[in-house]
Amino acid sequence: MPSTLQEIPTLFAKYKVAKNILDRISIWNGDITRLQIDAIVNAANSRLAGGGGVDAAIHRAAGKTELQRECRQYDGCAVGEAVITSACKIEHVKNIIHTVGPQVYSSLKSSDREKLVNCYRNSLELAKENGLKSLAFCCISTGVYGYPNDDAAESVGDFLTKYLAENENIERIVLVTFLFIDYELYHEYFANFAENFE
Ligand code: ADP
Repeated sequence: MPSTLQEIPTLFAKYKVAKNILDRISIWNGDITRLQIDAIVNAANSRLAGGGGVDAAIHRAAGKTELQRECRQYDGCAVGEAVITSACKIEHVKNIIHTVGPQVYSSLKSSDREKLVNCYRNSLELAKENGLKSLAFCCISTGVYGYPNDDAAESVGDFLTKYLAENENIERIVLVTFLFIDYELYHEYFANFAENFE
């Protein structure tokens, strides 16, 4: 059975401040394909061809042939952009949003940070256009693409807290972690956010 949003507490249950923001965000450690939610966001590659890591897990769960057929309607996807498909065989999810994160080779540049944030922004805009109210994000770019975990947690946290304050349409964002380091870094970020919230 997939996990449901009712079973996953929001950060408001823990911090009791900033209800309008923290009651719409959860941190959940697990396999993104095992969540019952409107949309899951895939860390895809620019050819949308299916790859390793979370991309492989999503293609496997959705059905490789079916999902690849859907992805072929697009001429790939640029870094920072996002496209949408159905969720094929994942019956507890309505859509898959595929976004392509930046690859960080040696040192992190501010343009990498902008591209990472654009992945989140463009995925949320696609969700809005398609009437999707709940979204699960994996930790885009922090695996094989080499984006530093700590900067990702902070940049994503800063962006999402502002986005939710300005956009009422999204009911829940689940930050899905797979590695304990990302789980810890997100909790650190939000503990600090809650402590400094006025
Ligand atoms: P990228 O190429 O964008 O770095 P990866 O797939 O290598 O993408 O990693 C992105 C993140 O997804 C990493 O934090 C990785 O641990 C995580 N991940 C891998 N498999 C899953 C899964 N089944 N569900 C959720 N997250 C996953």
